[in-house]
This record gives sequence, C-alpha cells and structure tokens, in this order.
Amino acid sequence: MNSATFIGLAEALEQVRRTASKNEKVAVVAAYLRNLSPDDAALAARVASGRASERGSRDEAQVGYATLIEALREVTGATEDDVSSSYLKHGDLGEVAEELLAQKKEQPLFAEELSLRDIEEGFARLRSAKGKGAASTKRRIVKSFLLAATPLEGKYLVKALTGEMRTGLVTGLLEESIAAAYGLTKGEAARAHMVLGDVGAFAREAASGRAAVARIQPFRPANFMLAEPFASAREIAEHFGKTAYAEYKYDGVRAQVHRAGGEVRVYSRRLEDITASFPEIVASFKGPGPDFIIDGEAVPFAGGRPLPFQLLQRRLRRLEDLEEAVREAPVTYFAFDILLRGDKETVDYPLSERRGLLRDVVEGTSVRLAETTDVNSEGTVQSAFRRSRDLGYEGLVVKDPESTYAMGKRGSGWAKLKEELDTLDVVIVAAEYGHGKRAGVISDYTFAVRDGDGLKTVGKAYSGLSDKEIGEMTSRLREITVRDYGYRRQVRPEIVVEVAFDSIQRSDRHDSGYALRFPRIKRIRTDKGIGDIDDIGKVRQVYSGQKLKMEEG
Ligand code: AMP
Repeated sequence: MNSATFIGLAEALEQVRRTASKNEKVAVVAAYLRNLSPDDAALAARVASGRASERGSRDEAQVGYATLIEALREVTGATEDDVSSSYLKHGDLGEVAEELLAQKKEQPLFAEELSLRDIEEGFARLRSAKGKGAASTKRRIVKSFLLAATPLEGKYLVKALTGEMRTGLVTGLLEESIAAAYGLTKGEAARAHMVLGDVGAFAREAASGRAAVARIQPFRPANFMLAEPFASAREIAEHFGKTAYAEYKYDGVRAQVHRAGGEVRVYSRRLEDITASFPEIVASFKGPGPDFIIDGEAVPFAGGRPLPFQLLQRRLRRLEDLEEAVREAPVTYFAFDILLRGDKETVDYPLSERRGLLRDVVEGTSVRLAETTDVNSEGTVQSAFRRSRDLGYEGLVVKDPESTYAMGKRGSGWAKLKEELDTLDVVIVAAEYGHGKRAGVISDYTFAVRDGDGLKTVGKAYSGLSDKEIGEMTSRLREITVRDYGYRRQVRPEIVVEVAFDSIQRSDRHDSGYALRFPRIKRIRTDKGIGDIDDIGKVRQVYSGQKLKMEEG
C-alpha cells in the first residue's frame, strides 16, 4: 500500500485546530484516519498526539528549540530578530515555522510531496543520531525536511518535533476518533489504548482490526495506576469503610519491570526505557523464570532505611559515571503490583489475589515486597502513617483489597496520604540570573500550571536547590532558551519541579490571577513531563480550601 501524503495530515490537524467543537474534531480525525494503512495510521495518530516516537522507545526523535531555530533560519534566511518577534507574536514554534516558510525565497519547484513514510524515516534517523556530531546531523535532517515542506507541513512537522501540538485534540478525543474510524466501542478503545500504552500502536492495531483483542505484552510499557490524594487519616478511613492495605509511600522512582525470554527491562512512569539506570533490578531477575510485568518503586536504600531521593537523580541523568552513582546510592526495588504473569493478564484480578502472584514472582530475589499493614479506622491509618514517617518514608498509599489495576487512572482504589499536602508540580517557563553570590548562575525560576491547552504562571521561586543543582539547571536553561532578554530568559516549558509553599493568594502579578506564597523547590521532577503538571483547578481548590479553613478558624 502506498503511503499517504503528509500534507493530508497537516490539513486535517489544521482543521482540528480551527474548530472549537469536540464532535467536529473527532469527525475530522476519524474521517482522515479511516483511509490510511495501519503503518500510516500509527504515525498519524502519534503526530496528532504531539509525539515523534513510540512511547517506551529507547530513543527520542524530538529536537531542541536551538536546533530547530537554526535550521529554520538557514532555510528561510530569517534573522534572530525575525524569529523572536514571530515567536512573541505566536507563542508557538510551529506557527513561527509556518510564517517564516511562507516568506522563504526559494520554494521547491518540482519537489516531491512528502509522504507519511518519509516523515517516519526522518524521525527514525533523528532517533539514531547520537553522540558526537548528533547536533549537526539532526540539524541537517531537519533542514532537509524544511526545504521540502510547504508552510503548513513545516508547521506540523515542527509541532511534532517539539511535542507542542496545541490543536485541542486531547488524548480522550484522539482515542474517540480512532474508535469512530474503526468501529470500536468506547470501552474497547479505552482498554486497547491502555494496554498498548502508545497511541500509535493502538491506531495500528485498530486499523488492522486487532484492537479488540489487544493484550498487555512484555516490553510494551502499560500506563501506570495512580493514587488519589487525601487530606487526612479520617478521610481515608471513611473512603474505604472497611479493612484496607496500608503500604508505605516510597520516595523513589516509579518503575515497571518486564521480564520475558530471559530479558529484563525497566520503564519509567513516562513509559521511557530506563533499564540502563538500574543494573541491580536487572540482576535480581537474571536466570530462568516465568514472564511477568510488575509495578513498584525503585528506592535508594541502605542499612534498612531509605536514603534521600535526590541521590537517584544522578543515575537517571547521565550514565557515564553510573558505577559510581550505583555505589553512592544503591537501589532496592519495592514491588507492589503485577500486571502480567506468564501469558495471563492479571490487571482484572482483585489486589488480594495479585499480591499472592507477586509474592511468587519476587520470592528468592533481592527485590522486596512493599510492606503493608491492615487498617480499618482513623486510628489505625494514623498510626501506620506515623510509623511510615518515623522510618523515613513519605506517607502511605492505602489500597482496596478488591480493586483491579486501573491502568493510567487515578483510581479510587488507591489513596495517598502525605504530610505536606500543599505541593504543586509546575513547569518552568522563564528564568533570571541571581544576585550576590548567585550573580553568574540562573537561580530564579518563574513557573506555571496548566490551564486547558495553555500555561498560566503562578509564582517565582528562588530557593530550594543545591549549588550543584543550580549549576546544572543553568546550563539546561541556556539550552532551552527561546528568547534571551539579557537578565531574563523565556524558556521552552519542559523542566518540571515540585514546589512547596505556605499558602496561595489572589494576585495580578501572575497571569493565572494567583500567586504561591513562599514557594520553594522541593525537587526537580525528572520523572515527570509537562503532561503531568498540576492544573489551575488544583490551585483554585487549594486556595478555596485554605479560605474555608480560615473562616472555620
Ligand atoms: P505523588 O508522586 O506524590 O503524586 O504520589 C504518587 C506516587 O507514589 C506514585 O506514582 C508512586 O510512584 C509512589 N508510590 C510510592 N509508594 C507506593 C505504593 N506503595 N503504592 C503505589 N504507589 C506508590
């Protein structure tokens, strides 16, 4: 089957972007997808979701702003000023590409139309550009794309490469579109999508008529189940109203471990392959045994106690000094769930049964089961919570013994309790040089939460990081600078941090209308992406919660 044109996809996405109607967005995408081959459908769905690679693949095709801007300037002859004034106008690099490409002097005369397969091949080449010279290889690939692209194609190419699609086609709508294109029920679509993890893989299976029988498979990370936050032991006891399992809330890196055919791989919450960072986990499952997929937390741990989470950052970031990082912060994997055992999916079994299967799988290895106690009242939750804090854990995750494993959901089957409730996960959007002893480093960060498709700023933090972290932050922020105003720089929103704060006030200093009081960075969340940050709803909720408390007081 011939591959469809890329312009067809760009036009469909442009139509989706232009309408505010959700039904129309779904209708456009469904009609578009219906005529594609399975491989084309996979790429198209992935691009529509703002990805250039399959979730869980070891390598990324995404390209940094600096490289994209450089390639754009080379192709169009635009100056630095042209780029930044266009960016100020649109706030979107894809739209910048569209504007600049329209002014490009030489338009390709008899250029061949780009096909979806061409795009996929280009993405594959971007994924394999590594090590020395990777930056210039990537620039060359992007440049050849942009030379062949029409303005509209350039726009969506750049959007796919930055991951900033902004068409309002949220995950749920894309899922609905795929269901409508291939005649799946909502339930079948949701399940196939969850099981396959990646929207492209889901579209491919749907286009081949195999989505309804999609199964969880080793080496294809499934979406993680998440816990709902609760404010007190009393609320948790009331929520369950029966005996539940209270597990320690381990403060490490959430990780899914897959084993099949003697091979072991580890995936992060963002479904990235992080096997190389955790040689201990791989080693504990060496040798023969059944295939499985288990869920748990990799925790820096020594002498029977957890070590500070920060010690893990180093091993996640760079692998050159991995051996030293492993020595500095040995990891124990605490397993708490199982999704697959042999060729049986176990996600629909009740937790009480999954526990038994999990115990069998980890028995005799250096992996440990998450510790658990039964709780059935405010008092028992409270004392389990205190014990967890005394031992150095973050709190509790309390679980319903009858609950199934709800992939990708913040299910009510899991409830989390932390002491310091008021933290927000936010993304850094701008940064400034510090003062005094921090004059040479970028140490002041303006951050934002999500508001629909966009971002709204809620505060500025000056403290919380070590000098070393600030140093590293400085070079990362330089790399992702969109516009440099000298003392201040606007950056590509991708660094997620968890901020603690004392309270939230109404304020017109930030465009959200709210400001965090005394924000401090608790940690850099390398495990989270921009899709995981909190939204303005959570800010409003905390704000009105504290108002209530004040009124009660
Ligand atoms: P938070 O990161 O504060 O949103 O809390 C949710 C996270 O707690 C999960 O994503 C897990 O990484 C982590 N966690 C730690 N211990 C457990 C546990 N026993 N069960 C489930 N999740 C846990």
